[in-house]
Amino acid sequence: MQYLSLNRQSPAVDFREAAIRGQAPDKGLYFPESIPLQPRDFIENIEEYSKEEIAFMVIQPYIGTEIPEEKLRQIVSETLQFDFPLVQVTEDMYSLELFHGPTMAFKDVGARFMSRCLGHFIQNKDQELTVLVATSGDTGGAVASGFLGVEGVKVVILYPSGKVSNVQELQLTTLGQNIKALEVNGNFDDCQEMVKKAFADESLNKIMFITSANSINIARWLPQQFYYWFAWKAWPDKKNPPVFCVPSGNFGNICAGLLSYQSGLPANHFIAACNANNTVTDYLINGNYRPKQAVPTISNAMDVGDPSNFVRILELFNHYYPALKEALSGYSITDEQTMQTIFEVFNENNYLLDPHGAVAFQALKEYLGEISSEAGQPFAKGIFLETAHPVKFPETVESIINWKVPVPQPVYDLLLKKKNSIRIEADYSALRDFLLETI
Ligand SMILES: *Cc1c(COP(=O)(O)O)cnc(C)c1O
Repeated sequence: MQYLSLNRQSPAVDFREAAIRGQAPDKGLYFPESIPLQPRDFIENIEEYSKEEIAFMVIQPYIGTEIPEEKLRQIVSETLQFDFPLVQVTEDMYSLELFHGPTMAFKDVGARFMSRCLGHFIQNKDQELTVLVATSGDTGGAVASGFLGVEGVKVVILYPSGKVSNVQELQLTTLGQNIKALEVNGNFDDCQEMVKKAFADESLNKIMFITSANSINIARWLPQQFYYWFAWKAWPDKKNPPVFCVPSGNFGNICAGLLSYQSGLPANHFIAACNANNTVTDYLINGNYRPKQAVPTISNAMDVGDPSNFVRILELFNHYYPALKEALSGYSITDEQTMQTIFEVFNENNYLLDPHGAVAFQALKEYLGEISSEAGQPFAKGIFLETAHPVKFPETVESIINWKVPVPQPVYDLLLKKKNSIRIEADYSALRDFLLETI
């Protein structure tokens, strides 16, 4: 499989090259030159496949011969060392729990897959690779855990000071070894901007070999498709495919779902569930894409004002607005509604949502409510992606439900550790100096 740059000024490259580079030299995002179709037999009989077999089927066409089959199967199985249960919450709404991995958020899958691919590609190479990543909360921990101890790779994580939860911060600042955390005096967009500048800095790139572990990297983005196929495997009503509702920030996860949809994944509709950061939801209403400053919310991993993966969604629909609107709707949920949702679902359905899952729950509920009132529509049911464990946001969740969330052992161990970060200003020259000094 070849990957083209969406800015179309750089040549197409293979999976290996695209995964190592992260971003194309023309600063475009890489995108597969064609979208593989999954065989009918696989789609109809998915229940007979294990999660490892499903993941292999889904990812193999994107990699071709770049990774030998046996190695790819090993990477897939190491990536998927935990479960992805589909849990019924209301009569028509199911939670796809993506928080059973080591950092209790869905980004574990992408980070684990990517780190193992890069580890494979740089074996026997003498140059070290530095992975640079900006995080609004969960990426940092997942990348840190995914790359910890991978030989030949150093990881530098930028996160906005005071804007990630305590657990999130500890997950990315306490590992040591090949992982460094930079605490930036700014917001997530500042962090992301600094990382982008580093990739664009030609003189820096001559000295060191840097790449990204943000969801723009295809090796992180593509494996997120697994969730949707796992959900389809578990879906109880195969004659009536689900609506997928995805809590969205940088739009990598939902874009992976839409990619699978084009490969033949059965789905009724997709919903982008956003918090007050409503750049895309506005676009879906009025057709104008106007990036905004990110505003802080209680679902902080989605505080993104100019989502990088959105260009990939446009590309998936050939920039044809009516087709995009047919497949995708957007909802923007306020913090008040999010808190109310956590409260209600806990009390009425005995299910504890985290703030991100709560945004998705509410968006799905609104959508199902709207379509059920339209005459002639079949009774639709949906899946919301529960992207983080509620214990990652104890301050928020516990004040709403007035009950202490039991702390799982890994979090308990984490809380005893001491944060180790390096503070820097939200200024590219500070990052550049740091990289040149320490690497
Ligand atoms: C990153 C993250 C999101 C947003 O995912 P995108 O792929 O950036 O849209 C949602 N929820 C949680 C918990 C996250 O960590």
